Parts: sequence; structure tokens; C-alpha cells
Amino acid sequence: MEEYGIDPREISLRYGILGAEPWSEALRVQLEERLGIDAVDIYGLSEVIGPGVANECREAKDGLHINEDHFLPEVIDPASGDPLPPGEYGELVFTSLTKEAFPVIRYRTGDIAALYPEPCSCGRTLVRMSRVKGRVDDMLVVRGINVFPSEVEYQLLKFKELAPHYQIVIDRGRALDRMEVWIEPAPATVAAWGRFDPGIAPAAELTNKTGNALAAALGIQVDIRLVEPGSIPRSEGKAVRVVDRRQIGV
Ligand SMILES: [Zn+2]
Repeated sequence: MEEYGIDPREISLRYGILGAEPWSEALRVQLEERLGIDAVDIYGLSEVIGPGVANECREAKDGLHINEDHFLPEVIDPASGDPLPPGEYGELVFTSLTKEAFPVIRYRTGDIAALYPEPCSCGRTLVRMSRVKGRVDDMLVVRGINVFPSEVEYQLLKFKELAPHYQIVIDRGRALDRMEVWIEPAPATVAAWGRFDPGIAPAAELTNKTGNALAAALGIQVDIRLVEPGSIPRSEGKAVRVVDRRQIGV
């Protein structure tokens, strides 16, 4: 819409229920500001029911209310299988209570989240789950440090100069794993620079401050590659955010 000069406030879209892959608070800010809507998160999985296991309320936008009359949630330690106390992040597990023909009992979702039993300011008393922080099997271990792609996204979305597209590339360096993050400048940034060239001073400055922010948040050195606008693959279905070349043996 921005490229075509359409003002989203002139269309009738007011409210977005967005799901199917994890998104961050920073992305909510962008969606709400740039589309002029209320954006809330929905959670579900096809093995349990599909969309509708949990949904944020429009009033508080502070965690997703789980429909507990149909689904019994637990959070467990993914290694030991032991239940974790409220507020602690672990693997989300569901038991269906009303589903017939294909019930699930203590189904392990592979999703990392936490549960909050306190009533919400909207007045609903259904337990809330945090946003999904990542997948048990998506968590990257780079030089012994746990890295969640969602944390990388959270940091990148703080930079208004960047387009909301990125890719994480992990490779074996000479001695240690190397983590590279590919980023794109936003169209307005390139317009302000006059042209796209990673070598010019404002581009180098953007690359540096992005690298510093990621290194501070993740606790590891990150190499930033600023690439041509439009060159990172766009999300069709689930986005490919991580390319791990360590398995290929190159
Ligand atoms: Zn609420």
C-alpha cells in the first residue's frame, strides 16, 4: 500500500487477528501504526483444533486468553517433562476436554511459552499464555549460546530505517560458528540516501548500530549484511528466517 500510495486509513480495515507464526510486540507497533488498526494475536495448532485455542483480547493485548473450557494447558520443562510454575517459559502442552473422535492428551506442541493465571484487566478470568517465544526445535545454539530468532526480530524491528524482512545465516567459521544477519533498508531510507550502496557512510552507520544492538541483546558477535531492498525472500506461508549451513558440511 505504501508503494502504491494508498493510505490504509482510507479503507475499512479496523481490526486484525493475526496468527500462524510468532510475531513480536515491535511488529504489533508497526502493524497498528502503519495500517491504523488494532492488531491482536491468535494461537492454535491443527493437531488440537486449528485457530482458536487462544486469542488476545482487544482491551488489554496482554497475553492470549486460552479457551480453558475446551483446552487444559500446561507448561513443562522440555528436557525432563516436569510441569513448570506460572510465569516460567517452557514447552506448551494441551489436553483437549471436549473434542470427540480425535482427542489429544498432554499433547506436546513444541512451542515455547509461559502461562499467567491472574485475571486480566479486561475482566476475563481465563488463563493467559505469553506470545510464543520460539520452537523447542528452532532454538539455535551458536557458540554455546541459546539464540531465539524471535529475539533477533524484536531487536531489528526497533530500527525504523530497516524493512521488516531479515534472514539469519549460521555457518561454520574457521574455528567457531559464525552468525550473519541479512537486513534490508526500508524504501524511505534508500530514498533519503539517494541510492542503495552498503559502502556509503549512513549505510555503514546503520549496519554498525544494528550489529551492536544484536550483540548486546544476544550476547554473541553478529555480522550484519545490508542487502538490496527486495532481495530477502518474502513470507509465503511460514517465512524462512533461518538458514543453518552447519549441517550441510561445507
Ligand atoms: Zn483480557
